[in-house]
Amino acid sequence: MQIRVALPNDMVNKDPVDDGASYHGILADLLIPGRGEPLKNGALVVKDSTIEWVGPQNEIPSEYSSIRFSRVPVLMPGMWDAHTHFEGVGVAIGIRDSMKPFLPGTATLIGAVIVDDMRRTLMAGFTSIRELGGYGGDVAPAIDMGAIVGPHVYAAMSILSITGGHGDIQDVPLQTVLDACAHGSSSSFVCDGVDGCIKAVRQQIRRGAKVIKVCSTGGTLSLNDQPEDTQFSPEELRAMVQEAKRSSRVVAAHAHGKPGIMAALDAGVKSIEHGSYLDEEVAAKMKEKDAILVPTRHIVEGLIDGDDDLDPRQRAKLERGVQLSRDSIKLAIKLGVKIALGTDTFSSDRNHAVAHGKNATELRYAVEAGMTPLQAIEMATATPPETLGPQARKSGQLKAGFDADLIAISSNPLEDIEVLINPDNITHVWKGGVVFKSPR
Ligand SMILES: [Zn+2]
Repeated sequence: MQIRVALPNDMVNKDPVDDGASYHGILADLLIPGRGEPLKNGALVVKDSTIEWVGPQNEIPSEYSSIRFSRVPVLMPGMWDAHTHFEGVGVAIGIRDSMKPFLPGTATLIGAVIVDDMRRTLMAGFTSIRELGGYGGDVAPAIDMGAIVGPHVYAAMSILSITGGHGDIQDVPLQTVLDACAHGSSSSFVCDGVDGCIKAVRQQIRRGAKVIKVCSTGGTLSLNDQPEDTQFSPEELRAMVQEAKRSSRVVAAHAHGKPGIMAALDAGVKSIEHGSYLDEEVAAKMKEKDAILVPTRHIVEGLIDGDDDLDPRQRAKLERGVQLSRDSIKLAIKLGVKIALGTDTFSSDRNHAVAHGKNATELRYAVEAGMTPLQAIEMATATPPETLGPQARKSGQLKAGFDADLIAISSNPLEDIEVLINPDNITHVWKGGVVFKSPR
């Protein structure tokens, strides 16, 4: 079952070529394909949920002559955020409320709060998200069934962490954390030793994980570890990557410090999240391994600008990391490391800098760090699906055979990348060929 939202009659024609399918077409003054050069006066034909044809308006095949086309100024693929968390922070729980997710009823409360976060994400032009720890994977079936509105969700379910590591809730009794892990009621999961790590990967896949998230270093928002700390042994990391591979999943590694980044790459992870201490040696290994950097600049700049709720230990680490984060993306761009858009968006508080729906702010930081607007759009569209390895759908490009996840924009983002940041400028959103947002 799929929800059909306000599908304007003039945008769909049944059966122009008599094959029982639904067709609609879009004419765009500028068509940005996601990867490759933009096309002036482009056209695109959607058959059911898939793009069937893309090309210049004066070459539209005659078989589509009976389709009615809508017209937009700029058309591009729906954007992807490859690093998000849907946990109701700021409404259901506070950023320091580490006990709260375990209290009775809280998972339900979080689920209710993130319904609107999902809708806002889609309306901001993000038709797909990768969730690296949180409750988005638990509500994804409701989105797929059409009960609520949101992007495609590719979730890791729980973050995997060593005891005392970045994904552990360090100020809560360990047994409470372990009980929550056993019941699948936490967004993080503690595991140790090769056998424990293999079992943890299997448990996430059992819950519906499309990707596995591990912490190969300490972090900023955890309390008692440091971003430079190395977490998980090389044997544990290798075991998790191999176990994930048996189920056609890849691994994303939360990694700040260089030894933890290198260990994760040696183990075969697909993406490095944050990558604060990226240098020339790291960049060379990432290219050799075809690994992808997800820089998450948005959370760093958003939090440094004044989140008063942070613990002093969290703030001290954030202040130490902000310049590293700025330098790391600049060097990665200069050295040609593959980069996918990821924001670490986590807040359900509408007024928070890192609230859901502001995900496109990441493009601003990428352009400031040296990308052209066209490269930044590729970072937001064609590249992120690759962070899912074999679980990726054909998505993020305007190409025949790809998912019809599309957005229209009121003006040209190649001239000013900022237009993508305000959701009001995203005039249309199609997901799977269905229009979820339009001026009418
Ligand atoms: Zn994160």
